[in-house]
Amino acid sequence: MSQGTLFIVSAPSGAGKTSLVRELIESLDGIRVSVSHTTRPRRAGEVDGVNYHFVDKAAFEAMVERGEFFEYARVFDNYYGTSRRAVQALLAAGQDVILEIDWQGARQVRAQLSDAVSIFILPPSREELERRLAGRGTDEHAVIARRMREAVQEMSHHDEYDYLVINDDFTTALRELQSLVIARRLTVKRVSERHGPLLAALLSGEAGLE
Ligand code: GDP
Ligand code: ADP
Ligand code: 5GP
Repeated sequence: MSQGTLFIVSAPSGAGKTSLVRELIESLDGIRVSVSHTTRPRRAGEVDGVNYHFVDKAAFEAMVERGEFFEYARVFDNYYGTSRRAVQALLAAGQDVILEIDWQGARQVRAQLSDAVSIFILPPSREELERRLAGRGTDEHAVIARRMREAVQEMSHHDEYDYLVINDDFTTALRELQSLVIARRLTVKRVSERHGPLLAALLSGEAGLE
């Protein structure tokens, strides 16, 4: 069975990462998003086990102690982490997996899995980033101000990524993300893994047209 590809998607908060990833996995088969653990309080509308696994600090630290995280980081005073077991099971089953993680987590993942594909999503302007953060209506004013300040820091790491997608027009950005996933599935390595018998048959010396 061929292994799936691990895609890392990062962006400053409010750039549209979660909305784009949600549409991406609805539009393509064979790709899943990893559900992170976080100590951040749940937002209205968020569901435990769907958006995140919401845990308290003690539970998170116990998972760190037991080495259960593939990567974890502190972002905006909260902890966020990706469970190793969940991601490995999906990849081993041939699923492509998306991690929506920050730049610190992205570094940890690249160090462990050199063929992970990393994508950074940029907003079309600072003003639009602020409009989206406020317009989402999920965070208090102080939280938004904090996230805007941290946005520059997050974006300064864009050059550590393989691809940059600017989320101006949503449909265009979505199509660009789909293209990246599909292109990866068409590399010689991946196609050979999926279509071993076809290639063997095409290349066998057995009588063809004569
Ligand atoms: P949002 O991105 O504005 O929706 O805000 P969140 O509070 O959901 O996420 C905040 C930041 O934490 C995001 O920029 C993510 O990149 C990062 N993050 C979320 N989950 C993880 C994780 O499992 N590991 C790491 N390292 N970062 C995470
Ligand atoms: P993130 O996960 O990066 O913090 P979200 O996906 O929550 O960002 O998006 C932030 C807000 O911006 C949401 O209200 C979303 O509907 C909106 N949004 C996302 N992409 C676009 C876009 N291309 N044009 C306008 N609004 C967008
Ligand atoms: P939010 O709290 O707005 O959902 O996410 C805040 C930040 O945490 C985002 O930048 C998001 O990418 C990051 N994040 C979410 N999950 C993970 C994760 O599992 N690992 C890492 N490293 N960052 C994450």
